[in-house]
Amino acid sequence: MHYVSTRGSAPALGFEDVTLAGLASDGGLYVPESWPSFSADQIRALSGLSYVETAVRVMAPFVAGSLNEEELRELCAAAYGRFSHDAVTPLVQLDHRHWLLELFHGPTLAFKDVALQLLGQLFERFLSRRDDHLTIVGATSGDTGSAAIDAVAGREKIDIFMLHPDGRVSDVQRRQMTTVLAPNVHNIAIDGSFDDAQALVKAMFNDADFARRFNLSAVNSINWARLMAQVVYYFYAAVRLGAPDRAIAFSVPTGNFGDVFAGYVAAKMGLPVAKLMVATNVNDILHRALAEGDYSQGQVVATATPSMDIQVSSNFERLLFDAGGRDGKALAEQMKGFEASKAMRLTNAQRDGASALFTSARVDADAMTMAMRWAYDAAGQVIDPHSAIGLAAARSIDLDPAVPVVTLATAHAAKFPTAVERATGIRPSLPSRVGDLFAREEAYAKLPGTFEAVTAYVAGRATPRG
Ligand SMILES: *Cc1c(COP(=O)(O)O)cnc(C)c1O
Repeated sequence: MHYVSTRGSAPALGFEDVTLAGLASDGGLYVPESWPSFSADQIRALSGLSYVETAVRVMAPFVAGSLNEEELRELCAAAYGRFSHDAVTPLVQLDHRHWLLELFHGPTLAFKDVALQLLGQLFERFLSRRDDHLTIVGATSGDTGSAAIDAVAGREKIDIFMLHPDGRVSDVQRRQMTTVLAPNVHNIAIDGSFDDAQALVKAMFNDADFARRFNLSAVNSINWARLMAQVVYYFYAAVRLGAPDRAIAFSVPTGNFGDVFAGYVAAKMGLPVAKLMVATNVNDILHRALAEGDYSQGQVVATATPSMDIQVSSNFERLLFDAGGRDGKALAEQMKGFEASKAMRLTNAQRDGASALFTSARVDADAMTMAMRWAYDAAGQVIDPHSAIGLAAARSIDLDPAVPVVTLATAHAAKFPTAVERATGIRPSLPSRVGDLFAREEAYAKLPGTFEAVTAYVAGRATPRG
Protein backbone atom coordinates (compact mmCIF):
# COMPACT_ATOMS: atom_id res chain seq x y z
CA MET A 1 0.00 0.00 0.00
CA HIS A 2 1.25 3.46 -0.90
CA TYR A 3 0.25 6.71 0.73
CA VAL A 4 -0.04 10.15 -0.83
CA SER A 5 -0.04 13.59 0.79
CA THR A 6 -3.19 15.72 0.89
CA ARG A 7 -1.08 18.61 -0.41
CA GLY A 8 0.12 16.78 -3.47
CA SER A 9 3.87 17.40 -3.52
CA ALA A 10 5.47 15.09 -0.91
CA PRO A 11 6.66 11.74 -2.27
CA ALA A 12 4.33 8.73 -1.97
CA LEU A 13 5.56 6.42 0.82
CA GLY A 14 4.89 2.93 2.14
CA PHE A 15 3.25 2.20 5.50
CA GLU A 16 6.49 1.95 7.49
CA ASP A 17 7.75 5.35 6.32
CA VAL A 18 4.36 6.99 6.78
CA THR A 19 4.12 5.68 10.34
CA LEU A 20 7.54 7.02 11.28
CA ALA A 21 7.09 10.36 9.50
CA GLY A 22 3.69 11.42 10.85
CA LEU A 23 3.22 14.64 8.88
CA ALA A 24 4.13 14.73 5.15
CA SER A 25 7.09 16.91 4.13
CA ASP A 26 4.81 19.33 2.23
CA GLY A 27 2.79 20.00 5.39
CA GLY A 28 -0.01 17.67 4.29
CA LEU A 29 -1.37 14.47 5.81
CA TYR A 30 -0.92 11.00 4.36
CA VAL A 31 -3.87 9.02 3.03
CA PRO A 32 -3.92 5.69 1.19
CA GLU A 33 -3.52 6.01 -2.57
CA SER A 34 -6.85 4.18 -2.86
CA TRP A 35 -9.28 2.64 -0.37
CA PRO A 36 -9.17 -1.12 0.07
CA SER A 37 -12.58 -2.62 -0.53
CA PHE A 38 -14.31 -5.41 1.42
CA SER A 39 -17.14 -7.40 -0.15
CA ALA A 40 -20.30 -8.22 1.82
CA ASP A 41 -19.00 -11.77 2.21
CA GLN A 42 -15.68 -10.58 3.57
CA ILE A 43 -17.51 -8.42 6.11
CA ARG A 44 -19.84 -11.30 7.03
CA ALA A 45 -16.79 -13.45 7.65
CA LEU A 46 -15.73 -11.10 10.47
CA SER A 47 -18.71 -12.13 12.56
CA GLY A 48 -17.70 -13.90 15.75
CA LEU A 49 -14.00 -13.12 15.36
CA SER A 50 -12.03 -11.80 18.34
CA TYR A 51 -11.01 -8.16 18.38
CA VAL A 52 -7.43 -9.07 17.49
CA GLU A 53 -8.49 -11.22 14.53
CA THR A 54 -10.85 -8.49 13.34
CA ALA A 55 -7.99 -6.01 13.61
CA VAL A 56 -5.69 -8.22 11.54
CA ARG A 57 -8.26 -8.61 8.74
CA VAL A 58 -9.25 -4.94 8.64
CA MET A 59 -5.71 -3.55 8.80
CA ALA A 60 -3.88 -6.09 6.61
CA PRO A 61 -4.42 -4.17 3.33
CA PHE A 62 -3.08 -0.95 4.87
CA VAL A 63 0.19 -2.45 6.13
CA ALA A 64 0.85 -4.62 3.05
CA GLY A 65 4.49 -4.36 2.02
CA SER A 66 5.62 -3.40 5.54
CA LEU A 67 4.26 -6.17 7.79
CA ASN A 68 3.06 -9.66 7.00
CA GLU A 69 -0.06 -11.07 8.61
CA GLU A 70 1.85 -12.94 11.31
CA GLU A 71 3.80 -9.83 12.32
CA LEU A 72 0.62 -7.76 12.39
CA ARG A 73 -1.12 -10.36 14.57
CA GLU A 74 1.79 -10.38 17.02
CA LEU A 75 1.72 -6.58 17.38
CA CYS A 76 -2.08 -6.49 17.76
CA ALA A 77 -2.00 -9.22 20.40
CA ALA A 78 0.63 -7.28 22.38
CA ALA A 79 -1.25 -3.97 22.04
CA TYR A 80 -4.72 -5.26 22.89
CA GLY A 81 -3.53 -7.69 25.55
CA ARG A 82 -3.20 -4.64 27.79
CA PHE A 83 -6.95 -3.91 27.75
CA SER A 84 -8.98 -4.85 30.79
CA HIS A 85 -11.99 -6.21 28.86
CA ASP A 86 -11.82 -9.38 26.80
CA ALA A 87 -13.84 -7.82 23.99
CA VAL A 88 -11.38 -4.84 23.98
CA THR A 89 -14.20 -2.51 22.79
CA PRO A 90 -17.48 -3.96 24.17
CA LEU A 91 -20.94 -2.79 23.09
CA VAL A 92 -23.50 -1.88 25.75
CA GLN A 93 -27.19 -1.52 24.93
CA LEU A 94 -28.98 1.58 26.30
CA ASP A 95 -32.47 1.14 24.85
CA HIS A 96 -34.08 -0.48 21.82
CA ARG A 97 -32.14 1.78 19.47
CA HIS A 98 -29.10 3.25 21.19
CA TRP A 99 -25.82 1.56 22.01
CA LEU A 100 -22.54 2.60 23.57
CA LEU A 101 -19.26 1.36 22.14
CA GLU A 102 -16.94 1.43 25.15
CA LEU A 103 -13.51 2.45 23.95
CA PHE A 104 -11.99 3.21 27.35
CA HIS A 105 -10.81 -0.17 28.64
CA GLY A 106 -7.15 0.54 27.88
CA PRO A 107 -4.42 1.56 30.34
CA THR A 108 -5.18 5.32 30.39
CA LEU A 109 -9.01 5.14 30.29
CA ALA A 110 -9.70 6.86 26.94
CA PHE A 111 -10.15 5.67 23.37
CA LYS A 112 -6.73 7.04 22.43
CA ASP A 113 -5.24 3.84 23.88
CA VAL A 114 -6.78 1.77 21.08
CA ALA A 115 -4.59 3.50 18.52
CA LEU A 116 -1.57 4.42 20.60
CA GLN A 117 -0.92 1.02 22.12
CA LEU A 118 -0.62 -0.27 18.57
CA LEU A 119 1.46 2.71 17.45
CA GLY A 120 3.95 2.07 20.28
CA GLN A 121 4.36 -1.51 19.00
CA LEU A 122 4.74 -0.32 15.40
CA PHE A 123 7.39 2.26 16.33
CA GLU A 124 9.42 -0.28 18.24
CA ARG A 125 9.26 -2.82 15.41
CA PHE A 126 10.21 -0.34 12.69
CA LEU A 127 12.95 1.44 14.67
CA SER A 128 14.69 -1.78 15.61
CA ARG A 129 14.60 -2.85 11.96
CA ARG A 130 16.40 0.36 11.03
CA ASP A 131 18.45 0.79 14.19
CA ASP A 132 17.20 4.36 14.35
CA HIS A 133 16.03 6.77 17.07
CA LEU A 134 12.89 8.89 17.12
CA THR A 135 11.85 12.09 18.90
CA ILE A 136 8.11 12.29 19.35
CA VAL A 137 6.69 15.77 19.88
CA GLY A 138 3.01 16.08 20.47
CA ALA A 139 0.34 18.40 21.76
CA THR A 140 -2.46 17.07 23.89
CA SER A 141 -5.78 18.37 25.08
CA GLY A 142 -5.56 15.66 27.70
CA ASP A 143 -6.01 12.10 26.54
CA THR A 144 -3.52 11.73 23.69
CA GLY A 145 -0.66 12.67 25.97
CA SER A 146 -1.24 10.04 28.61
CA ALA A 147 -2.02 7.34 26.06
CA ALA A 148 1.11 8.14 24.03
CA ILE A 149 3.31 8.28 27.11
CA ASP A 150 2.00 4.95 28.36
CA ALA A 151 2.63 3.43 24.93
CA VAL A 152 6.29 4.49 24.68
CA ALA A 153 7.53 4.95 28.29
CA GLY A 154 10.86 3.23 28.81
CA ARG A 155 11.41 2.43 25.12
CA GLU A 156 15.08 3.00 24.34
CA LYS A 157 14.83 4.25 20.78
CA ILE A 158 12.23 6.93 21.51
CA ASP A 159 12.12 10.23 23.38
CA ILE A 160 8.72 11.80 23.87
CA PHE A 161 8.02 15.51 24.48
CA MET A 162 4.37 16.14 25.29
CA LEU A 163 2.93 19.66 25.42
CA HIS A 164 -0.32 20.26 27.29
CA PRO A 165 -2.15 23.57 27.92
CA ASP A 166 -1.32 24.54 31.50
CA GLY A 167 -4.34 24.27 33.79
CA ARG A 168 -6.69 23.13 31.03
CA VAL A 169 -6.53 19.37 31.46
CA SER A 170 -8.17 17.49 34.34
CA ASP A 171 -6.12 16.41 37.38
CA VAL A 172 -6.48 12.79 36.37
CA GLN A 173 -5.34 13.57 32.82
CA ARG A 174 -2.34 15.59 34.02
CA ARG A 175 -1.25 13.04 36.57
CA GLN A 176 -1.52 10.21 34.07
CA MET A 177 1.19 12.04 32.12
CA THR A 178 3.33 13.69 34.76
CA THR A 179 3.66 10.73 37.12
CA VAL A 180 5.38 8.65 34.45
CA LEU A 181 8.98 9.24 35.44
CA ALA A 182 10.74 7.18 32.74
CA PRO A 183 13.88 8.96 31.46
CA ASN A 184 12.54 9.16 27.87
CA VAL A 185 9.35 10.99 28.94
CA HIS A 186 9.32 14.83 28.98
CA ASN A 187 6.12 16.66 29.95
CA ILE A 188 5.73 20.38 29.20
CA ALA A 189 2.88 22.61 30.41
CA ILE A 190 2.45 25.47 27.92
CA ASP A 191 1.07 28.86 28.84
CA GLY A 192 -1.80 28.88 26.28
CA SER A 193 -4.59 26.79 24.77
CA PHE A 194 -4.46 23.40 23.09
CA ASP A 195 -4.47 25.12 19.70
CA ASP A 196 -1.41 27.14 20.77
CA ALA A 197 0.35 23.93 21.79
CA GLN A 198 -0.60 22.25 18.53
CA ALA A 199 0.66 25.25 16.53
CA LEU A 200 4.04 24.98 18.32
CA VAL A 201 4.28 21.31 17.40
CA LYS A 202 3.45 22.10 13.77
CA ALA A 203 6.09 24.83 13.74
CA MET A 204 8.72 22.36 14.95
CA PHE A 205 7.83 19.98 12.12
CA ASN A 206 7.92 22.83 9.62
CA ASP A 207 11.48 23.68 10.69
CA ALA A 208 13.08 21.16 8.34
CA ASP A 209 16.56 21.30 9.92
CA PHE A 210 15.23 20.82 13.42
CA ALA A 211 12.92 18.02 12.31
CA ARG A 212 15.74 16.21 10.53
CA ARG A 213 18.28 16.69 13.30
CA PHE A 214 16.08 15.05 15.91
CA ASN A 215 14.13 12.74 13.60
CA LEU A 216 10.82 14.19 14.75
CA SER A 217 7.68 12.14 14.58
CA ALA A 218 4.07 12.73 15.52
CA VAL A 219 1.62 10.77 17.61
CA ASN A 220 -1.22 13.23 17.10
CA SER A 221 -4.04 11.81 15.06
CA ILE A 222 -2.33 13.26 12.00
CA ASN A 223 -0.39 9.97 12.12
CA TRP A 224 -2.09 7.64 9.66
CA ALA A 225 -1.45 4.51 11.73
CA ARG A 226 -3.65 5.88 14.48
CA LEU A 227 -6.60 6.39 12.20
CA MET A 228 -6.08 2.95 10.75
CA ALA A 229 -6.27 1.34 14.19
CA GLN A 230 -9.56 3.16 14.85
CA VAL A 231 -11.19 1.82 11.69
CA VAL A 232 -11.22 -1.61 13.33
CA TYR A 233 -13.83 -0.92 16.00
CA TYR A 234 -16.35 0.43 13.49
CA PHE A 235 -16.21 -2.97 11.78
CA TYR A 236 -16.20 -4.85 15.08
CA ALA A 237 -19.30 -3.04 16.35
CA ALA A 238 -21.23 -2.95 13.08
CA VAL A 239 -20.76 -6.67 12.43
CA ARG A 240 -22.11 -7.43 15.90
CA LEU A 241 -25.22 -5.36 15.13
CA GLY A 242 -25.96 -7.02 11.80
CA ALA A 243 -23.61 -5.62 9.14
CA PRO A 244 -23.28 -6.20 6.24
CA ASP A 245 -27.02 -6.97 6.15
CA ARG A 246 -28.01 -3.92 8.16
CA ALA A 247 -26.69 -0.36 8.08
CA ILE A 248 -25.50 1.20 11.35
CA ALA A 249 -25.17 4.86 12.35
CA PHE A 250 -22.40 6.14 14.61
CA SER A 251 -22.28 9.24 16.79
CA VAL A 252 -18.77 10.43 17.53
CA PRO A 253 -17.70 13.03 20.11
CA THR A 254 -15.34 14.99 17.91
CA GLY A 255 -12.36 17.27 18.35
CA ASN A 256 -9.54 16.75 15.89
CA PHE A 257 -11.77 14.77 13.49
CA GLY A 258 -9.58 11.66 13.77
CA ASP A 259 -12.04 9.23 15.31
CA VAL A 260 -14.94 10.12 13.04
CA PHE A 261 -12.68 10.12 9.97
CA ALA A 262 -11.89 6.48 10.79
CA GLY A 263 -15.64 5.86 10.44
CA TYR A 264 -15.53 7.49 7.01
CA VAL A 265 -12.68 5.15 6.05
CA ALA A 266 -14.72 2.14 7.21
CA ALA A 267 -17.60 3.30 5.00
CA LYS A 268 -15.21 3.78 2.05
CA MET A 269 -14.07 0.19 2.55
CA GLY A 270 -17.61 -1.08 2.16
CA LEU A 271 -19.02 -1.15 5.69
CA PRO A 272 -22.70 -0.13 5.54
CA VAL A 273 -22.63 3.09 7.57
CA ALA A 274 -26.02 4.84 7.52
CA LYS A 275 -24.72 8.10 8.96
CA LEU A 276 -21.79 9.56 10.87
CA MET A 277 -22.87 12.11 13.45
CA VAL A 278 -20.12 14.63 14.20
CA ALA A 279 -20.92 15.71 17.75
CA THR A 280 -19.17 18.87 18.93
CA ASN A 281 -19.37 20.90 22.11
CA VAL A 282 -19.74 24.70 21.86
CA ASN A 283 -16.38 24.81 20.05
CA ASP A 284 -18.32 24.09 16.91
CA ILE A 285 -16.10 24.84 13.91
CA LEU A 286 -16.87 21.40 12.47
CA HIS A 287 -20.60 21.76 12.94
CA ARG A 288 -20.48 25.12 11.15
CA ALA A 289 -18.31 23.68 8.39
CA LEU A 290 -20.58 20.69 7.77
CA ALA A 291 -23.87 22.54 8.16
CA GLU A 292 -22.97 25.78 6.38
CA GLY A 293 -19.65 25.29 4.60
CA ASP A 294 -18.07 27.87 6.91
CA TYR A 295 -14.73 26.65 8.26
CA SER A 296 -13.65 29.65 10.30
CA GLN A 297 -11.72 29.51 13.52
CA GLY A 298 -13.37 30.95 16.63
CA GLN A 299 -11.97 31.49 20.11
CA VAL A 300 -11.51 28.30 22.09
CA VAL A 301 -13.95 28.11 24.99
CA ALA A 302 -12.96 25.88 27.93
CA THR A 303 -15.69 23.28 28.65
CA ALA A 304 -16.27 20.13 30.72
CA THR A 305 -15.07 18.20 27.64
CA PRO A 306 -11.46 19.42 27.29
CA SER A 307 -10.53 16.79 24.73
CA MET A 308 -12.95 18.47 22.34
CA ASP A 309 -11.98 22.09 23.07
CA ILE A 310 -10.47 22.54 19.65
CA GLN A 311 -11.06 25.10 16.93
CA VAL A 312 -8.81 23.67 14.22
CA SER A 313 -9.36 20.01 13.41
CA SER A 314 -6.24 18.69 11.67
CA ASN A 315 -7.85 15.61 10.21
CA PHE A 316 -10.58 17.57 8.51
CA GLU A 317 -8.00 18.15 5.78
CA ARG A 318 -8.16 14.44 4.96
CA LEU A 319 -11.89 14.68 4.36
CA LEU A 320 -11.55 17.85 2.29
CA PHE A 321 -8.97 16.04 0.16
CA ASP A 322 -10.89 12.82 -0.35
CA ALA A 323 -14.41 14.22 -0.61
CA GLY A 324 -13.24 17.15 -2.72
CA GLY A 325 -11.80 15.02 -5.53
CA ARG A 326 -8.22 14.42 -4.30
CA ASP A 327 -6.70 17.53 -5.89
CA GLY A 328 -3.60 18.06 -3.72
CA LYS A 329 -2.41 21.23 -5.47
CA ALA A 330 -5.79 22.94 -5.05
CA LEU A 331 -6.06 21.85 -1.41
CA ALA A 332 -2.55 23.14 -0.67
CA GLU A 333 -3.70 26.57 -1.91
CA GLN A 334 -6.93 26.37 0.08
CA MET A 335 -5.08 25.42 3.28
CA LYS A 336 -2.51 28.18 2.75
CA GLY A 337 -5.41 30.61 2.57
CA PHE A 338 -6.89 29.17 5.75
CA GLU A 339 -3.59 29.40 7.61
CA ALA A 340 -3.31 33.08 6.65
CA SER A 341 -6.90 34.21 7.32
CA LYS A 342 -8.12 31.53 9.79
CA ALA A 343 -11.23 31.09 7.64
CA MET A 344 -12.26 29.36 4.44
CA ARG A 345 -15.34 28.24 2.52
CA LEU A 346 -15.72 24.60 1.57
CA THR A 347 -16.01 24.02 -2.18
CA ASN A 348 -19.27 22.57 -3.51
CA ALA A 349 -17.52 19.27 -4.20
CA GLN A 350 -16.25 19.14 -0.62
CA ARG A 351 -19.70 19.94 0.80
CA ASP A 352 -21.47 17.41 -1.40
CA GLY A 353 -18.86 14.74 -0.73
CA ALA A 354 -19.19 15.27 3.02
CA SER A 355 -22.96 15.58 3.26
CA ALA A 356 -23.55 12.12 1.79
CA LEU A 357 -22.29 10.52 4.98
CA PHE A 358 -21.89 13.14 7.69
CA THR A 359 -24.34 15.05 9.78
CA SER A 360 -23.47 17.19 12.77
CA ALA A 361 -24.75 18.66 16.01
CA ARG A 362 -23.51 21.23 18.51
CA VAL A 363 -24.21 20.15 22.08
CA ASP A 364 -24.16 22.67 24.93
CA ALA A 365 -23.57 22.03 28.62
CA ASP A 366 -27.26 21.54 29.46
CA ALA A 367 -27.84 18.99 26.73
CA MET A 368 -24.67 17.18 27.81
CA THR A 369 -25.91 17.02 31.40
CA MET A 370 -29.31 15.74 30.28
CA ALA A 371 -27.66 12.97 28.27
CA MET A 372 -25.61 11.86 31.28
CA ARG A 373 -28.79 11.74 33.36
CA TRP A 374 -30.68 9.87 30.67
CA ALA A 375 -27.96 7.21 30.34
CA TYR A 376 -28.09 6.69 34.08
CA ASP A 377 -31.88 6.74 34.44
CA ALA A 378 -32.67 4.68 31.35
CA ALA A 379 -29.87 2.14 31.48
CA GLY A 380 -27.90 2.54 34.71
CA GLN A 381 -24.82 3.70 32.78
CA VAL A 382 -22.52 6.34 34.25
CA ILE A 383 -20.92 7.98 31.24
CA ASP A 384 -18.25 10.65 30.87
CA PRO A 385 -18.96 14.17 29.53
CA HIS A 386 -17.40 13.49 26.09
CA SER A 387 -19.47 10.38 25.59
CA ALA A 388 -22.49 12.41 26.73
CA ILE A 389 -21.91 14.95 23.95
CA GLY A 390 -21.99 12.03 21.54
CA LEU A 391 -25.10 10.54 23.11
CA ALA A 392 -27.00 13.84 23.14
CA ALA A 393 -26.25 14.22 19.42
CA ALA A 394 -27.18 10.58 18.76
CA ARG A 395 -30.58 11.08 20.34
CA SER A 396 -31.25 14.04 18.05
CA ILE A 397 -30.28 12.19 14.85
CA ASP A 398 -32.77 12.42 12.00
CA LEU A 399 -32.86 8.87 10.69
CA ASP A 400 -35.11 5.86 10.17
CA PRO A 401 -35.75 4.61 13.75
CA ALA A 402 -34.95 1.05 12.65
CA VAL A 403 -31.27 1.98 12.21
CA PRO A 404 -29.23 1.23 15.35
CA VAL A 405 -27.22 4.21 16.57
CA VAL A 406 -23.89 3.53 18.24
CA THR A 407 -22.37 6.29 20.35
CA LEU A 408 -18.63 6.05 20.79
CA ALA A 409 -17.90 6.22 24.52
CA THR A 410 -14.50 7.83 24.36
CA ALA A 411 -13.48 8.10 28.01
CA HIS A 412 -14.08 6.40 31.35
CA ALA A 413 -16.33 8.45 33.63
CA ALA A 414 -13.65 8.43 36.34
CA LYS A 415 -11.44 10.66 34.20
CA PHE A 416 -13.92 13.51 34.75
CA PRO A 417 -15.41 12.81 38.19
CA THR A 418 -16.51 16.36 39.01
CA ALA A 419 -18.64 16.87 35.90
CA VAL A 420 -20.11 13.39 36.25
CA GLU A 421 -20.99 13.93 39.90
CA ARG A 422 -22.60 17.28 39.11
CA ALA A 423 -24.87 15.69 36.51
CA THR A 424 -25.73 12.36 38.12
CA GLY A 425 -24.92 12.70 41.82
CA ILE A 426 -22.54 9.78 41.49
CA ARG A 427 -18.80 10.17 41.89
CA PRO A 428 -17.19 7.48 39.72
CA SER A 429 -14.09 5.88 41.19
CA LEU A 430 -10.92 5.08 39.29
CA PRO A 431 -10.62 1.46 38.21
CA SER A 432 -7.92 -0.45 40.02
CA ARG A 433 -5.74 -0.71 36.93
CA VAL A 434 -4.59 2.89 37.24
CA GLY A 435 -3.37 2.28 40.79
CA ASP A 436 -2.33 5.00 43.20
CA LEU A 437 -2.39 7.89 40.70
CA PHE A 438 -2.90 10.59 43.33
CA ALA A 439 -0.09 9.39 45.59
CA ARG A 440 2.60 9.41 42.90
CA GLU A 441 5.24 12.10 42.38
CA GLU A 442 4.76 14.45 39.38
CA ALA A 443 7.45 15.93 37.13
CA TYR A 444 6.94 18.50 34.36
CA ALA A 445 8.32 21.76 32.98
CA LYS A 446 6.30 24.95 32.64
CA LEU A 447 7.20 26.99 29.56
CA PRO A 448 5.88 30.11 27.83
CA GLY A 449 4.11 29.29 24.56
CA THR A 450 6.93 30.51 22.32
CA PHE A 451 8.74 28.60 19.62
CA GLU A 452 12.14 29.64 21.04
CA ALA A 453 11.41 28.37 24.55
CA VAL A 454 10.05 25.03 23.41
CA THR A 455 12.70 24.25 20.78
CA ALA A 456 15.47 25.14 23.24
CA TYR A 457 13.96 22.76 25.78
CA VAL A 458 13.64 19.92 23.28
CA ALA A 459 17.10 20.49 21.76
CA GLY A 460 18.65 20.34 25.23
CA ARG A 461 17.19 16.90 25.97
CA ALA A 462 16.53 14.99 22.74
CA THR A 463 19.00 12.65 21.03
CA PRO A 464 20.30 14.18 17.78
CA ARG A 465 20.91 11.90 14.83
CA GLY A 466 24.47 10.57 14.64
C1 LIG B 1 -9.51 12.82 21.72
C2 LIG B 1 -10.84 12.70 22.30
C3 LIG B 1 -11.99 13.03 21.57
C4 LIG B 1 -11.93 13.62 20.18
O1 LIG B 1 -11.44 12.71 19.24
P1 LIG B 1 -10.86 13.24 17.84
O2 LIG B 1 -10.29 12.04 17.18
O3 LIG B 1 -9.80 14.26 18.19
O4 LIG B 1 -11.98 13.85 17.11
C5 LIG B 1 -13.22 12.81 22.18
N1 LIG B 1 -13.32 12.32 23.43
C6 LIG B 1 -12.24 12.00 24.15
C7 LIG B 1 -12.42 11.48 25.52
C8 LIG B 1 -10.97 12.17 23.61
O5 LIG B 1 -9.90 11.83 24.33
